[in-house]
Amino acid sequence: MSAFNEEKVLSVHHWNDSLFSFTTTRDQSLRFKTGQFVMIGLQVEGKPLMRAYSVVSAHYSDHLEFYSIKVQNGPLTSRLQHLQVGDTLLVSRKPTGSLIMDNLKPGKNLYLLSTGTGLAPFMSVIRDPEFYEAFDKIVLTHGVRWKSELGYFEHITEDMPEDENFGELVREKLIYYPTVTREDFDQQGRLTDLIESGEMFKDIGLPPFDPANDRIMICGSPSMLKDLVDILEARGFVEGTSHAPGDYVIERAFVEK
Ligand SMILES: Cc1cc2nc3c(=O)[nH]c(=O)nc-3n(C[C@H](O)[C@H](O)[C@H](O)COP(=O)(O)OP(=O)(O)OC[C@H]3O[C@@H](n4cnc5c(N)ncnc54)[C@H](O)[C@@H]3O)c2cc1C
Repeated sequence: MSAFNEEKVLSVHHWNDSLFSFTTTRDQSLRFKTGQFVMIGLQVEGKPLMRAYSVVSAHYSDHLEFYSIKVQNGPLTSRLQHLQVGDTLLVSRKPTGSLIMDNLKPGKNLYLLSTGTGLAPFMSVIRDPEFYEAFDKIVLTHGVRWKSELGYFEHITEDMPEDENFGELVREKLIYYPTVTREDFDQQGRLTDLIESGEMFKDIGLPPFDPANDRIMICGSPSMLKDLVDILEARGFVEGTSHAPGDYVIERAFVEK
């Protein structure tokens, strides 16, 4: 058996020149935990060209959804950005990743800190009722340069609160905190600065990070991860693993080559 399932593209949405999302069919045998990633790709010159992608769709959804960058000259995304409905996408059969609830101790508030396409795994988290049952508040941050990079903005602010299955939970528990660095916006600045200065906590009406209450998932650029881990470790947070659940978990949104 091949290591990959062949899925059909069902829809493609371009957010701007550098970001797009797409949905595909989902093989019934593919099971994943909310927050995990899979390898996806295309056949190129007879060989699979695969890259890691977080699953955006909920674990209970009958389709798969992904949120992608378009890298100029990127081996995969220079091709992937031309996906059309009906095209074939290869999807690995073995989801994995550290951004899962099992790796965290129980807590009061769950922070999902993302930049760029690091939003992807957290879209799956905020569609999972189990997370709303486990935490009093879920705070989703998304740091980008330009407003047009706030993928899913309308979906989170308009569609999700009205969702017939979990809209009530979203209205009661989800705090969405998008921030933009390079143009005017309600919240401006780098996430790390907004956290260090305490501005984010003032804006959302919650106390500053405290390992006694807060659990944190981080997905972003390698430099954003480093800065945030330094902040958390200085405040006594301990990283969680599959062997020893902790206060925070991290995943790189991409690898610098
Ligand atoms: C665990 C994990 C999960 C990932 N999930 C996603 C996801 O959900 N969506 C997604 O678009 N990418 C994701 N990536 C990155 C993805 O695997 C590829 O790197 C990306 O699709 C570009 O592929 P490429 O072959 O075109 O270029 P590559 O040769 O893979 O990358 C070229 C360069 O582009 C830059 N780059 C790559 N990906 C990104 C990105 N997402 N944001 C900003 N700069 C980037 C980096 O500088 C990289 O060195 C993930 C990576 C990891 C490790």
